Amino acid sequence: MPNKKCESCLMPFSKDPGTRESEQYCSYCFQNGKLTYEGNDVKEFKKHSYDAMRAKGMGQVKAKFFTWMIGFAPRWKK
Ligand SMILES: [Zn+2]
Repeated sequence: MPNKKCESCLMPFSKDPGTRESEQYCSYCFQNGKLTYEGNDVKEFKKHSYDAMRAKGMGQVKAKFFTWMIGFAPRWKK
C-alpha cells in the first residue's frame, strides 16, 4: 500500500502544496533529491519545522500541535 503521509513529518500528501519528489517524504522534507534536514535529531528537526510553519503564518497552537505529531513519524521511531 502506498504511503499517504510523509514519513518524516506526518503531513498527509493530500495537503502537500508543493511538488512531491519522493514516495516517502513530502515536498518540504525532501527537495532537490535529498532530505532538507539530514540529521537524526528529532528535537532539532521539530524546531526547524516549527519555525518553518510559523514563518508560513500558521498559528502558534496549530504549529505546536503539528510539531508534537512529528515525534510519531516513522522516520524518528527508534
Ligand atoms: Zn514531511
